[in-house]
Order: sequence, then C-alpha cells, then structure tokens
Amino acid sequence: MTFKELNMAEPILKALGKAGYETPTPIQQEAIPFILNNNDLLACAQTGTGKTAAFSLPLIQLMAENQRTNVKGKRPISALILTPTRELAIQIGECIKTYSQFTTLRHCIIFGGVKQKPQTDALQNGVDLLIATPGRLLDLMNQGYVDLNQIKHFVLDEADRMLDMGFIHDIKKILPRLPKRRQTLFFSATMPPAIAKLADTILYNPKKVEVTPVSSTVDKIEQFLYYVEKGDKRNALVKLLDDKNKESVLVFSRTKHGADKIARHLNKFGIKSEAIHGNKSQNARQNALENFRKRSTRVLIATDIAARGIDIDHLSHVINFDLPEVPETYVHRIGRTGRAGCDGVALSFCDREEVAYLRGIEKLIKKRIKELQV
Ligand code: AMP
Repeated sequence: MTFKELNMAEPILKALGKAGYETPTPIQQEAIPFILNNNDLLACAQTGTGKTAAFSLPLIQLMAENQRTNVKGKRPISALILTPTRELAIQIGECIKTYSQFTTLRHCIIFGGVKQKPQTDALQNGVDLLIATPGRLLDLMNQGYVDLNQIKHFVLDEADRMLDMGFIHDIKKILPRLPKRRQTLFFSATMPPAIAKLADTILYNPKKVEVTPVSSTVDKIEQFLYYVEKGDKRNALVKLLDDKNKESVLVFSRTKHGADKIARHLNKFGIKSEAIHGNKSQNARQNALENFRKRSTRVLIATDIAARGIDIDHLSHVINFDLPEVPETYVHRIGRTGRAGCDGVALSFCDREEVAYLRGIEKLIKKRIKELQV
C-alpha cells in the first residue's frame, strides 16, 4: 500500500516524499479513506502509531481542495484540533507544517503558559486550521478572538488523557460552540466507559479503527520488578544507573516534589539528570527535553502529566520509581520504550504500600512481572 493508492493528492505526496515517509502505517491505511469520505471516526490508537498523520493528511487534503473553490479574503477557521498538552500541540503543529508546505493553508497553535499576543495576532491574520489546548482556547474564545462557528472538521486527540487531566469540563464548554454539522474525529489510546460515553455523544455514525491494542505493545517490552522499601528507592536507583548501558532513561515519579528530589539525589552521585513537571516553566521543560534528546542528560524524571505527549525515540529504559495507581498508566509509561519495533526494558520499584497497585497491573497485562534483586 502506498500513499498514492490512498488517493493522496500531489502536494501532499510531494511533502511526504520530502519527509521520507514511504509506506502508510496501519492506522493511516485504515483511517485515511474514511476521513476523505467525510465519515466521523472513532480511533483507538496510541502515540507512536502515526495517528497524527492519519488525521492531518486527509484533513489537509479536504481543506486544500475546498480552498480552491473558496473566494479570497479573511478565512474562517475550518478545522479545530484539540489536544491535552502544549508539547503535543507543538508536535502536531510541526507535523501539519511539514505536510501542508505545498498548499496555501495556514495553521496556528495556541496553548497556555505563554503570552497570548503572538497567538491572537496569528488568529487575526486568518487561520484555516487551529491546534489548541482546551484552557487557552476557551480563554481566547471568551475574549472574542476565536470564532468556531464555521468549523467543518473537529479532532479530539488523546481523549482519555483529556479526561485524566480534568479537561472534560472545558471540552463540554467548547462543544456547543461548534456547528452541529461537522466531521468529528475522536482519538483515544484507551476506551474506558466515560470515554466511550463521550464518543457516543459527539460522533455521528462513526467508522471505527483500532490499532496495536495495549497488551500487544507491552509484550515486546522486557519487564522486571524490584521489591524496595520506600526509603531505599533513591539509592536503589543510583545502583541501577551505575550500569552505563542504561543510556537514555525515563524515570516516572508520582509527585512533582518527588521528581525534584530524585533529580537532586542523582546529580549528587554524578548521574546527569533533570526533572520535568507542571511547576516548571514551559522554557525549562523544553530545555530539559532538548537536553535529553541530545543525550547531554542521561536521565529524565517526569510525572505522568508532564510525560504526556513527549515523543522521544530510542529510549533504552523506563523506570517506575513509584508504581501508578491506575494500571493503564503503567502500560502508557512503559510503552515509551520499545517504540518502532525496538526492544525496550521497563523496571519497576514496588514498596509495601504499592503491592495492591502491582496486583492490578499484573491483572491488566495478564502476566507476572519477573522479580530481580537490586
Ligand atoms: P504519532 O503516532 O503521530 O506520534 O507519530 C509517530 C512518529 O512517526 C512521528 O515522528 C511521525 O513523524 C512518524 N510517522 C508517521 N507516519 C509515518 C509514516 N507513514 N512513515 C514514516 N514515519 C511516519
């Protein structure tokens, strides 16, 4: 299967060629024909499956075709992509910039934590495609900078994360401002009942696509467990990281404060590490990520929320310093290693108080995690 066989138009094929994409991923093969056919879509897919291109490419195509017949002048926003984090919004914006470079479409990214002026200037110049996080979008809507009543395509990205992060109320305020007649594309890595219910209320006769169910991704990852008492975890981590083969390690901490403490402790032992979490400025988070990508920091410590939307290739290890309370979170965390066919390793600490979490995780992944000694 090729992108040409998926009926992608010439400007998009040219952009894909330049970006080095040769074959559509499974989600792209399944979703693109439905989207080009103007169907609503319910897609169960995690980051790393190529889901961003799966919705962006056909949307760009539909919009570019429509634009040829449109009169010139200030254009109304015709597509809205809602995503939970700034990092994801930036990544989606970068993808759209690449894929639409040979069209005349304009896009704009809006997210919180930065000054709004550059965003409102861009909006006032006219935008076809808006990528936004819910809070800032509502804010700018309430100030009269954004008008969504001409939206033809609406994408809800990472719906389950939106719910976890408490954005559902914002989304419920945004939804009534969208036209009823529109195409809606709904993406979520998991489909717990609350998400299925939300999908049911906003989708019309959706086509359903599902790729790499959570358990099969996990099967490729080697998982080990260390029973460690709470007070011994930091020293146990130093011991594990003495092994230089662990070259690019993402450590998960349940709390922001905990993440900072771990980073300080590791640095004291000469292990270069940085923490990212919601209390850090956007700049500090971007810098920490950049250092980790460049490999000048070996260890990145993150909370679940901060880690969302981080797309880092070739992570060698994920370490769960604390076990998550929600078993699905374990699967999302360890899914960050072992991407794109690489084998990954996930190590978890479990203290006395976390044994119940461990049982929940093992039930979900349907296997016992092998125990090792530090
Ligand atoms: P996503 O799941 O959207 O986060 O995409 C994961 C990564 O795969 C991104 O870095 C994309 O640029 C890349 N990607 C998406 N589709 C393709 C494709 N068909 N061929 C090669 N790379 C792709």
